[in-house]
This record gives sequence, C-alpha cells and structure tokens, in this order.
Amino acid sequence: MERADFLILGGGIAGLSAGARLARHGRVVLLEGEEALGYHSSGRSVSFSHYGIGNDAVRALTAYSRPWFEPPLGHAFPTLYFADRDSLTSLDALGADMARFTDDIRPVDRCDMAALFPPLRPAAIRGLFDPTGLKLDADLILQALAKEVRAAGGAVLTGRRVVAIEPGWTVRTEAGDSFGAPILVNAAGAWADRIAALAGVAPLGLQPRRRTIIVVDAPPESAGWPFVHSAAGDFYLLPEAGRLLVSPVDEVPAEPGDAQPEDYDLALAADRLEHYTTIAVTRIAHRWAGLRTFTHDRVPTAGFAADAPGFFWLAGQGGYGFQTAPAMAEISEALITGGAWPKGLAERGVLVEQVAPKRGA
Ligand SMILES: Cc1cc2nc3c(=O)[nH]c(=O)nc-3n(C[C@H](O)[C@H](O)[C@H](O)COP(=O)(O)OP(=O)(O)OC[C@H]3O[C@@H](n4cnc5c(N)ncnc54)[C@H](O)[C@@H]3O)c2cc1C
Repeated sequence: MERADFLILGGGIAGLSAGARLARHGRVVLLEGEEALGYHSSGRSVSFSHYGIGNDAVRALTAYSRPWFEPPLGHAFPTLYFADRDSLTSLDALGADMARFTDDIRPVDRCDMAALFPPLRPAAIRGLFDPTGLKLDADLILQALAKEVRAAGGAVLTGRRVVAIEPGWTVRTEAGDSFGAPILVNAAGAWADRIAALAGVAPLGLQPRRRTIIVVDAPPESAGWPFVHSAAGDFYLLPEAGRLLVSPVDEVPAEPGDAQPEDYDLALAADRLEHYTTIAVTRIAHRWAGLRTFTHDRVPTAGFAADAPGFFWLAGQGGYGFQTAPAMAEISEALITGGAWPKGLAERGVLVEQVAPKRGA
C-alpha cells in the first residue's frame, strides 16, 4: 500500500488546487479515475472569472482568488450584460450585486452596445459593461497545479478509479492497488456524494446539473468582442480563437456521469443566438455538455465531515469552480492543517460557517 499524508480523490480544479496547497505540508497523493486530468467538469468549462455569477459568498471567493490568475493563467477579457424591456429589473439587480465587489462596472446604452458588440439586436436597450473579467487557461492551470504537487514529492495519478474506502483512510482502486492516509479529501465533483457513500459518510445532497455549449464559426471582427450575457440569464456567447462558444445557460438535473449534450439544448442554444443577435447559425462545428454541481445554497463547501474524522469535503463548486478555486484551496489548507482562516476572506465576509458541509438545509 502506498502511504501519504493527504489522499485526494478527484483530478479536477478542486482536487488539484487543494493538492498544490497541501503539498506544502506533507505528501499528497491525488487519484483521478479517468486517464486524463480534468476529463469531466474542469475540462468542459468556459473557464472565466467574473462577478456576474453566484451570490455574495461566491463573489467574495472570486474577488479573493483573482490575484492568483496572473498571465499566462488568466487574461483581461471584458464582459457585457444586456437587457431587453422584460429583463431590466434583472439587469439592475445584477448591477447592484456586482457593485459591491467592483467600482469598474459602467452602464451602457443601445449605442454603446452596438459599438461593443455589433450583432446585438436592437431589442437590447440597456446594458452593463464590466472590464474586469478574466479569461482563464484551464489546461495550463490544471497542469501547473499538478506540477506543483509533483515538485513537492507528491503523486498525481490518473486511471485510478477508487471503488472501496475504509475509515482511517484506506482506498482501493478498480485495478486493485491501495493507498492510505489519515486525511481523505473528497474532491470528486459530481461524484462527491457517491464517494461519501463508499466511505459510509452521510451525503450532502449535491445536485449535478448539465450545461450545454455549441461552437459556431465567427466573423473575423469577433476578436474584439466581449463575453456577452443576457441579463435574463438564458444566453451567453464567448468569442474564442475565431469561434463563438454559445450556451442557452441550461441547468438540467443530471446523474453523475459523462455528460452529453441533448438535441433540445443544442437547438435552444442556436435559437437563442439567432434571437438575441443577427448571427445566423449555418453550422455547429462542435458541441459539448458538462456538469455543474451545486450545494443546497449554491456556496461551495469545504470542511471535515462531522460523522467521519479525517474525511474532508471539497465539493459543490457549481458554475464557479475555477474562479473560486484559489480561495477554496486556501480554506482547505487552513482547515486541514489547523492554519489561520485567510484574513482576506474574513474581511470580505466569508466565514467558516458559510462553507461548512453541514450548514442547514
Ligand atoms: C459548460 C460549463 C461552463 C463552465 N464555466 C465556468 C466558468 O466560466 N468559470 C468557472 O469558474 N467555472 C465554470 N464552470 C464550472 C467548473 O467547470 C466546475 O465548477 C469545476 O470544474 C468543478 O471542478 P471539480 O474539480 O469539482 O470537478 P471535476 O472537474 O468534475 O473533477 C472531479 C473528478 O473526480 C473524479 N472522480 C469521480 N469519482 C472518482 C473515483 N471514484 N475515483 C477517482 N476519481 C474520481 C472524476 O473523474 C473527475 O475528474 C463551468 C462548467 C461547465 C460544465
């Protein structure tokens, strides 16, 4: 049996970022069931950091995490939120929520929006422009974190699906090899409740939800376009490398698994693109779906299970697992090693109770 100080289950952004912090304190062994890191949610993300998503706790975790995404891990990329007559109230509410975290957002009118994003249809009458967005390089981030773990003497092992867990903690993989450590970090994304069940730990009731992306060809001038969102919360478009990534912002309840896009959501994405913009969908070049897994109050969780000493939850990253990862990793480090709660998080109002696994349903 291979021994470690910290055993981490899950080779996505959650497990890897926690692994990189814990590697400063002892030997980390991270086990990923798939043959590649980030095969599930972390490899299917549009990997952006912005204040347009989540509640106050998520925005505070996002704000705390931002300095970590220096180039080349992240690059400045502006965001535009637009509203038609029916979604003006949502736009105003969004503006008020974001203004608690940044002073840089400015209102824009139809004329400004036409200059920023010419294909927008004139039904969009008002918007918000946020220059503070960051486009993250997901693959680079995952590889950089894995490198940190390995450089500290740890191991990041793929193709190691855990199928049995004994308290204490010992895990056995499908291939029959065993690993042991006093601390087990459950960073298994959509499977986190299933890992808990294997360990005899009470589940949290995590909810995986499927999100769909279509990729369409973009005109050459799309290089200067922002990340565009409807304030109604039913559409976004991200220009990337001569293509447009488009989502109908679906949240379909799903079982943990290899998420695949459904025809209905693909059609919805194309329909919303044509509804909100003058871009015609002649061909869908590529498509995918991924799971975003939520806790009951949509704040990610980090903390020891009350019913199982040494079993640490790091789950429920929802649709903001990348942009909150540095903060969640530091929280995990502090709670696991007995370090101080990050001061910058306390100053932003994020307290241990808010991320604790058992915090009321
Ligand atoms: C379409 C889409 C767009 C998104 N856009 C953004 C965005 O712009 N910004 C942002 O911050 N977030 C975004 N997200 C959310 C983000 O991708 C997730 O929050 C994040 O990837 C979750 O990371 P994770 O490590 O918890 O899960 P995962 O990446 O799914 O990792 C969990 C890993 O655990 C492994 N595992 C499960 N069971 C076992 C087992 N028994 N043994 C070993 N390994 C196991 C799985 O194979 C998996 O690789 C988006 C998500 C989607 C789907």
